[in-house]
Amino acid sequence: MNTREELKNKKRIVVKIGSSSITHPETGAINLTKLEILVRELCDLKNMGKDVILVSSGAIAVGRQAAGLRRRPENLAEKQACAAIGQAQLMMIYQKLFSEYGHQAAQILMTKNTMINNLNRMNASNTFEELLQMGAIPIVNENDTVSTYEIEFGDNDTLSAIVAALIHADLLILLSDIDGLYTDDPHKNPDAVFIDYVDHLDDQLLKMGKGSSSDVGTGGMSTKLSAARIATASGADMIIANGEDFHILHKLIQGNNYGTLFQGQHDKDFYLIDILDKDS
Ligand code: GLU
Repeated sequence: MNTREELKNKKRIVVKIGSSSITHPETGAINLTKLEILVRELCDLKNMGKDVILVSSGAIAVGRQAAGLRRRPENLAEKQACAAIGQAQLMMIYQKLFSEYGHQAAQILMTKNTMINNLNRMNASNTFEELLQMGAIPIVNENDTVSTYEIEFGDNDTLSAIVAALIHADLLILLSDIDGLYTDDPHKNPDAVFIDYVDHLDDQLLKMGKGSSSDVGTGGMSTKLSAARIATASGADMIIANGEDFHILHKLIQGNNYGTLFQGQHDKDFYLIDILDKDS
């Protein structure tokens, strides 16, 4: 069985979607058609008997729209206020859509600080386990309204890798507005070559990360590569793929060759807490 085929056997899957994948680029408003497809795909993974965890960005983007802000929020308080409005709206829509397919969505908001604290981390891990036992679908985001440096430096690519490591997921799928990893920025360099499989993340590959050009969200290729480092060291495979069409989810799980697959390589010296300490 090749590596792609093995994706069929994954049992615990974390899917991360960026703000730009769930909003209309013209207006910044939520893209309900895409969200419906996403939820249907996730419910079907659930129906296959898999544990499904969604890490969803979009609180700030949705809140900015709801608050009638035409520009990107600038200062921290403005971002946090937008997140407070947007996170509630986002969850309302997710709960409605998931319940249409008979599934229960649950909200988990996390900060780096709560991950660093041993007791809080253990509580978070227990809550995930309990929710998955109950058959619910945890929907995770940063607790943007109370966190500060998360908004300034953090991103949901890293958060999703930390979640994957915390709950011992065997697959992390990052869906964004890029097809996967190229040898260079394909928008600037026509000779950039697509890389569909990475069995070992070395320093040369890590250097290929480029900044984000998107108007919403915070993650670029470099944050995706550091997410890959965390996820693969924890033992999970990771895929970066284009979230333009969320039907890609079942195609990936069927073993089709989309995006870039990073092979999980459990590192015996990997301790989640070391990564958190280093970044904070
Ligand atoms: N937590 C932010 C939000 O939900 C997004 C962070 C990110 O996209 O990396 O708006």
